[in-house]
Amino acid sequence: MAPKFEDRIQGLLAQIEADGLYKRERLITSQQGGKIRVGGTGVEREVVNLCANNYLGLAGHPEVIAAAKRGLDEFGFGMASVRFICGTQTLHRQLERGIARYLNKDDAILFAACFDANGGVFEPLFEAEDAIISDSLNHASIIDGVRLCKAKRYRFANGDMNELEDRLKEANRDGARFKLIATDGVFSMDGYVANLQTICDLGERYGALVMVDDCHATGHLGEAGRGTPALTGVDQRVDIVTGTLGKSLGGAMGGFVAASQPIVDLLRQRSRPYLFSNSFAPAVAAGSIKAIEIAEKADDRRQNLASHAQRFRAGLQTAGFELLLGETPIIPVMLHEARLAQAMAAALDERGVYVAGFFYPVVPKGKARIRTQMSAALTDEDVGFAIDAFIDAGKALGVI
Ligand SMILES: *Cc1c(COP(=O)(O)O)cnc(C)c1O
Repeated sequence: MAPKFEDRIQGLLAQIEADGLYKRERLITSQQGGKIRVGGTGVEREVVNLCANNYLGLAGHPEVIAAAKRGLDEFGFGMASVRFICGTQTLHRQLERGIARYLNKDDAILFAACFDANGGVFEPLFEAEDAIISDSLNHASIIDGVRLCKAKRYRFANGDMNELEDRLKEANRDGARFKLIATDGVFSMDGYVANLQTICDLGERYGALVMVDDCHATGHLGEAGRGTPALTGVDQRVDIVTGTLGKSLGGAMGGFVAASQPIVDLLRQRSRPYLFSNSFAPAVAAGSIKAIEIAEKADDRRQNLASHAQRFRAGLQTAGFELLLGETPIIPVMLHEARLAQAMAAALDERGVYVAGFFYPVVPKGKARIRTQMSAALTDEDVGFAIDAFIDAGKALGVI
């Protein structure tokens, strides 16, 4: 007799649980911020939050919230239409133009999420005669987007520029018509910035376009927060930028592709997640416009973020923790063993600090860690409190 479908699903769930990989969502009863209230099951408490992508602290910014409310009042709750039928408001074009101007590109096109932007950016632009050369640590949405595209796929080990060059040569030998190098701007598990200088140099030498997914950078890294291309001095040399409105830029939701006019125009004609999905919610568009406006001028917030990162790194390093070194507000604390990472996360939770442990298969075996993220929403006291909690928990568990 055929096994019952539900039994198989129950078995998979039990296996996930047995492997220690079951993800449980914690209930937050407050806004997103430097401190959040967690609970929802009766006992509520306030914790210092080190695991949101709320780098600039705009998720709870009063002006962003006020702008979203005005958007709601003026443009309504929703459009109940795709963009090309009757779903494009002046607000949508204003946001797209704002993103393009911010990132120094001709134009931009909105998606419901960057996951959709990456899912829909490759297939219309590249065909079977073309080649996409992708970093092995690229975000899942890039991997899926490349899979949906008929272009030939090539992969290079994370950040390995020699291997990238080999793949470019290989694509040339295979007779590729057009080539695209696709990379994350920041690799979010490690907090490393991609070597965009070399990537752009190789792109030029081998005639390849360059695409950067800058989700973990737009808003807080580089001059005026223009992201890793600005940070590494290559913003005129990156052809396609994809990004999110769900992290630094207000943290609500939404993604985009920013590029030259013909690229954006073709995506508007052909990109499936754009064509066959509802228009962007007006309140989110209005709040995001304001978030970008604030982000561009937020040197004070970027300074605050950088100084929190510097202080937190120094505090933990002096105490004897092993960190991955980098130049982003992502600070991974290496614990190597999955169980230790889990125990450390629990010990920090008891001490009022909210962190996320990462272990296999999200990171390689033996590379378990707690990934902390700084935010401009944190106060100096919050950062000091978090450092003390790490030291106390680290001593209790014999990590330091
Ligand atoms: C968060 C993230 C995404 C997904 O963005 P959403 O807008 O949340 O769908 C895509 N790529 C990278 C590198 C990310 O960090």
